[in-house]
Amino acid sequence: MSNSLVQVALPLPLRKNFDYLVSGSPPPVGVRVKVPFGNKLLIGVSVGVSQNSNIDRAKLKFIDSVLDNSPILPEELWQLIERTARYYHHPWGETLSTALPNALMKGEKAELKPINYWQITHAGLEAIPNLPSRSVRIQQALRALESSKPTSEESLKANEIQLATLRKLQDKGWATCSELEQGSVRQSSCDQNCLELNASSSSNTGAQPISRHSLTPEQKSVVEQVLAKTQEFHPVLIDGITGSGKTEVYLNIIEHVTQTGQQALVLVPEIGLTPQTIRRFESRFPNKVASIHSGLTDKQRLNHWLKARAGIVDIIIGTRSAVFTPFKNLGIVIVDEEHDLSFKQSDGLRYSSRDLSLFRGQIEQVPVILGSATPSLETLYNAKHKNFSHLLLKQRATGATLPEITIENCKDQPLQEGFTKPLLNKMYQHLKKNQQVLVFINRRGFAPVLLCHRCSWMADCKRCDAHLTLHQSKQNDYLQCHHCGGYQSLPTQCPQCHAADLLAVGQGTERVEQFLSSYFSQYPIQRIDRDTTRRKSAMSDFVDAAKKGDTKILVGTQMLAKGHHFPKMSLVVILDIDGALFSSDFRAQERAAQLITQVSGRAGRSETEGEVVIQTHYADHSLLADLKNKSYSELAQRLLQERKDTLLPPYSHIALFRAESLKKQDAQDFLREVSSLFTNSNDALEVLGPVACTISRKAGRFRFQLMLNSSNRAQLHQLIAQHLPTIESSKRASKIRWSLDIDAQDLL
Ligand code: ADP
Ligand code: ZN
Ligand code: ZN
Repeated sequence: MSNSLVQVALPLPLRKNFDYLVSGSPPPVGVRVKVPFGNKLLIGVSVGVSQNSNIDRAKLKFIDSVLDNSPILPEELWQLIERTARYYHHPWGETLSTALPNALMKGEKAELKPINYWQITHAGLEAIPNLPSRSVRIQQALRALESSKPTSEESLKANEIQLATLRKLQDKGWATCSELEQGSVRQSSCDQNCLELNASSSSNTGAQPISRHSLTPEQKSVVEQVLAKTQEFHPVLIDGITGSGKTEVYLNIIEHVTQTGQQALVLVPEIGLTPQTIRRFESRFPNKVASIHSGLTDKQRLNHWLKARAGIVDIIIGTRSAVFTPFKNLGIVIVDEEHDLSFKQSDGLRYSSRDLSLFRGQIEQVPVILGSATPSLETLYNAKHKNFSHLLLKQRATGATLPEITIENCKDQPLQEGFTKPLLNKMYQHLKKNQQVLVFINRRGFAPVLLCHRCSWMADCKRCDAHLTLHQSKQNDYLQCHHCGGYQSLPTQCPQCHAADLLAVGQGTERVEQFLSSYFSQYPIQRIDRDTTRRKSAMSDFVDAAKKGDTKILVGTQMLAKGHHFPKMSLVVILDIDGALFSSDFRAQERAAQLITQVSGRAGRSETEGEVVIQTHYADHSLLADLKNKSYSELAQRLLQERKDTLLPPYSHIALFRAESLKKQDAQDFLREVSSLFTNSNDALEVLGPVACTISRKAGRFRFQLMLNSSNRAQLHQLIAQHLPTIESSKRASKIRWSLDIDAQDLL
């Protein structure tokens, strides 16, 4: 038998495929293969066959083994991954390994493991009344099976029934065990609820079906307009104010879509931050939801991925990477809080999951819903110019009104730990009425600067161009760099002049918490930031306590801005937003507007009317005035006009080259070389830089960036494709770290 030549994509940062030999006929395209590379074995994917190779036949190696019988991905997902690699100019093999679950890249079988189901026998049922009272375990196990429905071993174990006990039942002839393919039972007549096939997240949710609302006329109209066009690519922006019932709309749409046998993909920003949303989906669709996010083990993730591929689950709810989930019969994609930055990956393959969801909708010919109370300017632009349906929800679903915003000028006012007296009084008024108060401050730690009162020395990170943040909680004081993560102990005196007079300057969440918990000592307070929510269930515990009304004051960072619903929250205080108003990023105003609108949206969502106080030193800043007097939509229109006038995204398209090096010169020289390739290419292209990044040194490396800004996207991409080979093979490139970020979001 003659040998065939197979092209293999390998998870390497190289923009090419590799040729391997196989004896006999080649494996199908799209299966995983294990191949020798250097002195180790790598897992890759066969992407085609070649007639001849550039490499000397004698040097070609043989494939070690073929891991799958059939392609691991449906055709549509291949197309998406291919398109992703092309659009982001990213090595194809590395794109593939970002898109596929880790477990598959490590060689795990791409098949669902059969599940053991236990069922009680007639003898078992008869035994129940006659059991001696001390056989507690046996009784418990028999009771769990008493309904006579086959029950998965997984769910029995979750109810603390041990395998050893089940085996005893089997020995006595009281129960039987059968191994079934996952999903096969689902099609049987058995009631689904008994099976708990889909341990939908790692936690045991114990979800009870909740009562559903009858839709408001606005909601109904949105649902109808989406459902009117479900058999084609139909991009929809659901632009609904905070609390307008967007989630309820998604649930309704999904209900219809899944009733026709199709599946739904729901992308959400960060699952850990919005436990309520997941629970709402799980309780509305018991046993039909599986989640995909970074909190899962590799095995769990693969399991959920395989269930979606097999069509065993109807709904996948997941974060960014879930956009690469294979489906048997995808019917709709929903991106909730589409403006959220977490949809953009900030390293490796720097993809936007929101943007890819639109590619996906095109490929699969299904509707794609982008939902937000504060749509990104990109999406508003698309809605206007690219045939999106732009659907509005202008009222809160509960009938509540949007909170009134007050701008509190703190310039020249006496401040008590950052608060003016009138503001503290206002907070007290709300608390006294048994309502809740949220204090938002977008900075964790105690204080952002530690300063010597005598000589003005400041505690700086040795490895970054940044001040160290002082942390002070529970007798544990330390300094931490929020850029490289490094810790330092707190000096007792100034290292420069030896004065013992060190001042904590500025406010962070810890300081605000400390102050408020003594000032309002009778009202329970909870701080919510990355430091208090490290424990897995912490966020969901805090949110539950706040929802029940046990916690009266919440202090926290932007984690609190995300989709939470606290019925008794009536006052939102926004402290120290000033930094966000004056950032050098051209998107700073858009981001500040989104953040303030989202945080404000936590107030007055149902029972009590809400109000918002923004405390600032810049009370006459135009953005604050607009936030107070106009809707987000009106404000966004103004910001869009500014982008149009200055020719910035979404009216142009950007790509950012970043470079870091230990020696300052290396990164700079590299980017100068890149810059020279693009300069004078065409009139539509502007080449900006190289300039030092705002944090000009991080973890010991100097950082520079070069921005390409073009009014012609196709031309920009064509130029990048043309010059990348030169850039990659540049001698300077090998000395440094560099990356290319298409449609960059983070410009600092
Ligand atoms: P959003 O996702 O737009 O922030 P939600 O879907 O979370 O809004 O709805 C906000 C609140 O209003 C929730 O408590 C929800 O239960 C409630 N709600 C949603 N739709 C309705 C409705 N049609 N009637 C009554 N209450 C509703
Ligand atoms: Zn000093
Ligand atoms: Zn640092």
